[in-house]
Amino acid sequence: MASSWKESHGHLPGTIDPIQLAERGAYLTGTLPLQSMPRLAQGSLEGSGDVMVDLAFERQEGEKIFIVHGALRAHLRVTCQRCLEAMDLELKAAPWLILLKSGERLERQEGDADILVADKPLSLSGLVEDELLLALPMVPMHEPDRCPARVHAASVASAASDHVGRGGKSPFSVLSRLKKTK
Ligand SMILES: [Zn+2]
Repeated sequence: MASSWKESHGHLPGTIDPIQLAERGAYLTGTLPLQSMPRLAQGSLEGSGDVMVDLAFERQEGEKIFIVHGALRAHLRVTCQRCLEAMDLELKAAPWLILLKSGERLERQEGDADILVADKPLSLSGLVEDELLLALPMVPMHEPDRCPARVHAASVASAASDHVGRGGKSPFSVLSRLKKTK
């Protein structure tokens, strides 16, 4: 657990003007209720809880580029798609967005940073929710060594890839299993 997270630090505004915040070099730190994010809450067995927000709005040195970056964290209660039991999912996102007014273009590419068109005030919870939804795993599952289904079927390790072989990011890959061996 990171100790730098503050449980509640000030009052977060409902709507923000990101470019104006970036001109001032503002920080937004605090919590938002999960209930303010219906699409995210829908995916949680318990639709309540807090979403931790830590965002810095900045103007990049010497340039007319506005950015917002920081860290977001939420705890969700979801269903493990392997054993179908409830599990805690710690959802984290580290957004890095370039803020543009509509019609504006970047003069040069900024790596693969995402772009947020922000020419009018927008909902802070909507922005946070969008970023967390991007971080949400398609198929939430327990860690391999914590999943009841896994424990009961430890001998079928080689068959596990049949169930979750999609996407090449299977937590059951031989490598990650070896690393987790205690
Ligand atoms: Zn499970």
